[in-house]
Amino acid sequence: MKRPLRVAVIGAGIGGVGAAGALHKLGCEVQLYERASDLGEVGAGLQIGPNGVKVLQALGLDTRGAWVAEPVDTVSLAWDDGHQRFREPMKATAVQKYGAPYICAHRADLHRLLQEKVPARAIHTDMRCTGVATHDGHAVATFSDGSEIEADIVIGADGIRSVVREALFGVTPARYTEQMAWRGIISRDDVPARVGPNKSVEISHMDYCGWIGPNGHVICYPIRGGELYNMFIGHVSPEWVDESWTAPSTTQDILNAHKGWNDALLEMLSKVGDIYKWGIYDREPLTQWTKGRVALLGDAAHPMMPTLAQGASITLEDSYAVARNIARQADDPLAGLKAYEHERLDRARRVQLQARQQFDNNRKVPAPPPLSRDWIFEHDATAGPAASAA
Ligand SMILES: Cc1cc2nc3c(=O)[nH]c(=O)nc-3n(C[C@H](O)[C@H](O)[C@H](O)COP(=O)(O)OP(=O)(O)OC[C@H]3O[C@@H](n4cnc5c(N)ncnc54)[C@H](O)[C@@H]3O)c2cc1C
Repeated sequence: MKRPLRVAVIGAGIGGVGAAGALHKLGCEVQLYERASDLGEVGAGLQIGPNGVKVLQALGLDTRGAWVAEPVDTVSLAWDDGHQRFREPMKATAVQKYGAPYICAHRADLHRLLQEKVPARAIHTDMRCTGVATHDGHAVATFSDGSEIEADIVIGADGIRSVVREALFGVTPARYTEQMAWRGIISRDDVPARVGPNKSVEISHMDYCGWIGPNGHVICYPIRGGELYNMFIGHVSPEWVDESWTAPSTTQDILNAHKGWNDALLEMLSKVGDIYKWGIYDREPLTQWTKGRVALLGDAAHPMMPTLAQGASITLEDSYAVARNIARQADDPLAGLKAYEHERLDRARRVQLQARQQFDNNRKVPAPPPLSRDWIFEHDATAGPAASAA
């Protein structure tokens, strides 16, 4: 009997655990290597578009479970007087329009559920990859403890500062996008029922609300069935002075950056407890994701601005697509990897560039309506390639 394809995945973020789960499901023998001592996710909430949800469903996650919240409406509010810019139904239309719901969740919950799809014996922590290479008929990864592993294929899912990417394509600095963000969570009880001029706009803790201003935007949505309310606080800032990409911060820092913003929003921001800030980086799209028997996925391949809230969803699409392509051509791993690259490269590039365009649009006064994400949401990466680019 032919042996299963052996695949090593480097990095156990959302992309790495997603890929390991998909590879296991599709009959490959997978091993997952993570530099940290414990698996987990930092940060607060995460939006998962219908395109990402289709992958979660194919992996067997219950996308209507208590860990999820499905926002009822999208409500766009002005940063200063809080007037309603527009409102659209979200929950009532997503499945019908895109074939899956739009969900929001705590990152840690999503990561834990994806991890449950990977056999525990396949997960190796405290393994910092230092290099990868293709030799005759196999791929090799080396680690900081001096050890080395061999596999039919190695997948680099090791994030924006990917060592695997550097080994394949050389060292290039990431680009600071002139945006930083705070992320935090408040209780559903701290969300007001009415905002705006004369309290004329009704909102709910189950709505997805965006407060849009010229030098930043605050995106709020429910997580964990609506128990908690996540706040993404994006802020235009020409410099990122902290050495680390994430740093502890304070509520006072947030309030200082939002002088003159709407009182109801400031009241919510003052309730955010422990908080971290992020410098947001991206990279130019790559023209190649594979070399020999090694391939990239997720932020290692296409780090993007969070303005479309698609980084994790496109990463989940990659995870399933790489597993599908290599499992289908298990007797020819190089062809499987090339098919994966061909299928994914252009779609990820388009989303990366639209995320930048959306950031530029958000800074215009008045900000134009959001760019359409229909073409992103419609795709089902579990089924096959997207229709060719418009
Ligand atoms: C502020 C902010 C908000 C966001 N909001 C959203 C959102 O709402 N929706 C959305 O879809 N996306 C969002 N994103 C994007 C999303 O978080 C990322 O695109 C996604 O998490 C990328 O997953 P990944 O697995 O590719 O990389 P990562 O999550 O970076 O995981 C990489 C893993 O590899 C490990 N690793 C790194 N180097 C090595 C090594 N040498 N050896 C072994 N292991 C290694 C790391 O420890 C880590 O576990 C947001 C991003 C930011 C910054």
